[in-house]
Amino acid sequence: QDQWEEIKPEELTLGQELGSGQFGVVVEGKWREKKVAVKMMKEGFISEEDFKDEAKVTMKLFHCKLVQLYGVCTQRSPICLVFEFMHNGCLSDYLKTRRGRLSPNVMLGMCLDVCEGMAYLESSNFIHRDLAARNCLVSKNNEVKVSDFGMTRFVFDDQYTSSQCSKFPVKWSPPEVLRYSKFSSKSDVWSFGVVMWEVYNEGRFPYENRTNAEVMDSLNAGQRLLMPRLAPKSVHLLMEECWEEKPEDRPTFAVLLHELASLPVELL
Ligand code: ADP
Repeated sequence: QDQWEEIKPEELTLGQELGSGQFGVVVEGKWREKKVAVKMMKEGFISEEDFKDEAKVTMKLFHCKLVQLYGVCTQRSPICLVFEFMHNGCLSDYLKTRRGRLSPNVMLGMCLDVCEGMAYLESSNFIHRDLAARNCLVSKNNEVKVSDFGMTRFVFDDQYTSSQCSKFPVKWSPPEVLRYSKFSSKSDVWSFGVVMWEVYNEGRFPYENRTNAEVMDSLNAGQRLLMPRLAPKSVHLLMEECWEEKPEDRPTFAVLLHELASLPVELL
């Protein structure tokens, strides 16, 4: 099947606003008895034709650690994307509101969830390009899932897509992306290291007081984010592997998953 699920406007009920992101507003909704999140794409902001083609690819990705896209409603303007509803919102806010209350084991579980979703994307040869805690969502039973995969490619606004610009996620990006826009699963691995850092820093913003330009200079000088106080040494070592200068020196998600899953419990 190479068609996405076309969602009929009459089957979709829209409710209150949940938040707004770079692509437009997200509202709560109901579709076929299921609670859903509906992303209403800002008009003129994405390339609709490319986007429709890509939605077909995205619709084929199924994994319990990925926020599921149920379908697309193209008969309405703006185009709406209909997603699995995630009761506990985005991971960065979830971490912030629970500061001091998350155990190291729960934090490790969050990293494992994200790593599992990413290992699946890696095995599907799909590059996320914008992995960060703000792009992970938390379900009703506190499971973390990866969201917004591959979306940045459809943005026209080069404030997002050029690494020189203000809205580019510089603090989550490896040197080869900042220098040559060379995205790969290994650039996602770098970003995953920053996500682990965010988890163990309870949702703090990486390089809090530094500008993007200062961050680039410090990366070039070989500096990296510091070990989070709450992270076990073994987890910090994995973060550092994710931040190896050369992409080929970084582990794959498959290896990271294995390593995270086999950390000795007594170290935590
Ligand atoms: P951004 O573009 O900044 O990544 P999004 O557009 O993905 O943000 O989402 C904006 C907000 O809408 C999120 O912070 C979250 O609170 C809410 N949201 C997005 N997707 C979902 C979902 N599937 N379930 C519940 N809430 C969601």
